[in-house]
Amino acid sequence: MPITSPHVVTISAPSPGPTVAILGGVHGDEYEGVIAARWLTAFLRSTLVRGTIRVAAPAHPAAWESTSRESPTDGKNLARVFPGSPDGSATEVVAHELTQQLIAGADLLIDLHSAGTNYEMPFLCGFQDDDGNVSKTSRHFARIFGAEFTWRHSGKPAPGRSLSAAYDLNIPAIYTEGGGGRSVRYDELKGYTDGVRRVLHSLSMVEEALPTTSASTFVVGDGNTDIGMPAPTAGYLVMHVETGTQVAQGQIVADIVDSDGALLSRIPAPHHGYLMMRRREARVSTGDTVLIFAAKDEG
Ligand SMILES: [Zn+2]
Repeated sequence: MPITSPHVVTISAPSPGPTVAILGGVHGDEYEGVIAARWLTAFLRSTLVRGTIRVAAPAHPAAWESTSRESPTDGKNLARVFPGSPDGSATEVVAHELTQQLIAGADLLIDLHSAGTNYEMPFLCGFQDDDGNVSKTSRHFARIFGAEFTWRHSGKPAPGRSLSAAYDLNIPAIYTEGGGGRSVRYDELKGYTDGVRRVLHSLSMVEEALPTTSASTFVVGDGNTDIGMPAPTAGYLVMHVETGTQVAQGQIVADIVDSDGALLSRIPAPHHGYLMMRRREARVSTGDTVLIFAAKDEG
């Protein structure tokens, strides 16, 4: 039998304080978050001075074992079934266990994702802004995290996410994304661990954290990979710019060509802002999510 339940590690400091919950590997094809969370677990055993840390990495062991976004057991995406169900399918049971054992009772959730097999994203820390106090606190911690981009999404978290499970329990929550592609970049891995340490330092839970080396770019927009900009035609996606690049409205960001290189359609930037996500696989079908943009956050 494969291991299906996530292993939640709890580290308690001698002094009482906040509880911070950390998830890595909600998607089994995202190495960065798992490696960062496990490094932090070892590090915090000797450095946590106040409060409690709960870590589940990999959060979805079955998906991690098969290096896949979804569970090989029931085909489900863990990040679509929170808060889960004790009587549901294997992935729904995992979501339920994480909600009960890791998220419930925490003061902050940090969910370490990356762009996985299918996408590419810059190093970012995101949060949902529904104008409530929980999202104000989430914004505070996202800024302290200090990723290359700080991405604000308007409204409540989409249903089924770890963030939605947290918000439903009035718990602030932030998440990260990074390059993905089943590669791990030193700067991003360090960015994940340094970011968590800055958040913990701001809560007086660790004594030291390195400051950020450059200012974060604040952006706003919908980050849902289920509803990005769709491919207008089938063909091969040819990128003009890299993720994280600043773009002007109307600037051509990608072409779709046929296998002879003939131009089929062009995809312009819908507004001034930044390219925050692109699909990695060049061969696309009509309607596939290929790009996500965000605008500069003036709020
Ligand atoms: Zn993910």
